Amino acid sequence: MSIAQMMKDLDAGLKQTGQDFLHQGKIPGNTRPGNHSLRRKLFIGLSIAIVCTSVLAANVILRSYDDYKLARKNLREIETYRLILDVANVLSAERGPSNSVLGADILADSALQANLSEFRTRSDAALDRLSSLYRDASGPHPLVPAILLNPVRQQLAFARSQVDSLTAIPRGMRPLEDVQSVIESMFKVIDIFQAVIRWKVATLSSSNPGLAAALQTGQMLGDLREYGGRLASQIMAPIAVNQKIPLSNLVDNNRTRGRLEQIWQLIGGGDSIGYRDPLLASALHEADRLFFGDGLRMTDALIAQGRLSGNYTMSAADYTSNYVRTLVPLERLRTTYLDITIKQLAADQNRALVKLSSAIAVTTIILAILIGLVLVAQKYIFGPLLVARDEVISLAEDRPTAARSTRRYASELKSLFDAIDILRNNLAERASLTRQLKHQAETDGLTGLMNRRALDLIGESQTSNQVMANGVCLILMDIDHFKAINDTHGHLVGDQVLNETVCVVRNMLRSDDIFARYGGEEFILMISGNDLAASVATAKRIRRTLEAHPIPLPDGGTLNITSSFGVASGHLGRHAWPRLLEAADKALYRAKADGRNCVRFAASDEPAFAPDQDQPAPGRLAAAG
Ligand code: GH3
Ligand code: MG
Ligand code: MG
Repeated sequence: MSIAQMMKDLDAGLKQTGQDFLHQGKIPGNTRPGNHSLRRKLFIGLSIAIVCTSVLAANVILRSYDDYKLARKNLREIETYRLILDVANVLSAERGPSNSVLGADILADSALQANLSEFRTRSDAALDRLSSLYRDASGPHPLVPAILLNPVRQQLAFARSQVDSLTAIPRGMRPLEDVQSVIESMFKVIDIFQAVIRWKVATLSSSNPGLAAALQTGQMLGDLREYGGRLASQIMAPIAVNQKIPLSNLVDNNRTRGRLEQIWQLIGGGDSIGYRDPLLASALHEADRLFFGDGLRMTDALIAQGRLSGNYTMSAADYTSNYVRTLVPLERLRTTYLDITIKQLAADQNRALVKLSSAIAVTTIILAILIGLVLVAQKYIFGPLLVARDEVISLAEDRPTAARSTRRYASELKSLFDAIDILRNNLAERASLTRQLKHQAETDGLTGLMNRRALDLIGESQTSNQVMANGVCLILMDIDHFKAINDTHGHLVGDQVLNETVCVVRNMLRSDDIFARYGGEEFILMISGNDLAASVATAKRIRRTLEAHPIPLPDGGTLNITSSFGVASGHLGRHAWPRLLEAADKALYRAKADGRNCVRFAASDEPAFAPDQDQPAPGRLAAAG
């Protein structure tokens, strides 16, 4: 075995110990990704952040969605409500042409009849439209329950039949009470329809109290139009039949006027309907001028005439057509108010939609940023950190590392990798220095052979090397009378003799033999195996070769030397090694004592191995060994 092989074994042993150390997890860098992984902790933290953000965002999004749904519902509901008020308005409006035909001779004025038909068609269409609307497109639930609409239709049909039968009678023959009763029948249509309005206001106000004010204001404005119409209808019967106005009509008319003024005060006094809006303000102004001005003045004049006699300056039809014009701003007031309310609710709906979209967008952005952070952390922090960790572990385990580029790394990580590179270079330098020192510590300076210290290390270690496990033979060799060479030729020649001797012996060795300088002019040959006879033979061969080898001297002459050999066989190990050395030394001592230039082996005192004698028979040797 060569020294290199032995040293490799020793190194491998040390490395294995280092790896065991690493695998026991004592090097923190070697901790496998587990409970303590930084990346895992960050991922858990980020997952919690993502979950929390999602919960928070879901809350905001759900609330925004609810707001949006409510705003959409409010808009739909107020549109339905407006439709209902429109129908009430259309039904009220039918009273005008009805009153007109009641105060005219129908045969003489078919235009009035045609006008009435048109209004009736409009009323029917409005009612049909209302009953054809459903709460949702597919559902079986009508928007307005039939139970509320049917009585309206019945009353309307009844009132119309009354109008028709009365107008069939010539105008002069129509009894005042009958005309009055027909007009009240028409009032009743609206009274019954009020149930639809009240139902809608009640259901909407309870499901959405925020709409209550708008609903009530809308209703109030509808009432304004309704009572405005009634005011005229209440004195229409006597005008229609050219009679004095009965007291009861005057009382009803007065009560209606009181209601109108009350509503007007409420509307004009408060800003609940937001009349700061220019359209609404102009409608209010028009209502004040036309209805509360012209309309009431016209009515007052007719009442004054009706108190005195049955002679009116206006026919029922003229009064109706003039009066209806003054009702237009009242209608406009209601439609404008509802338009504004619908516009506000549509704006609310848009705002809610914008809020909902923003909440979704912001949430998406935040989640994207968080996920991006995880990816960036993975790519630019944890990825490089893991590479750095692997490199440091590789350095600790003395393994080579793969080439890498730090071009895209952050400056902090670049410095880390620079530091690792410096560490790698330092370690490489130190390793080379250590190798040098080790070599120096284990090598003899003069001959370049392994020195005694290194040989003792090998001898004392119970190496796992199989070659040495079966035992070794030691050949201890000492140059005879070397002191005399020194004394005669000087130390330099002595050194030269030593080197020449080494050169000769080295050429005779096998590759796995160990050859060491054990001291001054003493050398040791370690041969694997316990074949003592073979080792004795080797010693003898060397002895003969050295004896026959002339060593050149500086003065041109030559010098012949002889050597003595002690051979022993045994085992390596802390206790076995000194014994083996001692045995070889004793054998060498005997060789010296027997006159030098001969080979002796352990446990044999026989002078059978004289310098010129052949090697002993293996059987004898085995017995001696
Ligand atoms: P013997 O036959 O009994 O072995 O006698 P010897 O003279 O060889 O042995 P001794 O122990 O008396 O002398 C050994 C000498 O070797 C003494 C020492 O000065 C010399 N010596 C030891 N190391 C070196 C060395 O490196 N170079 C030289 N030139 N001489 C050395
Ligand atoms: Mg000696
Ligand atoms: Mg000697």
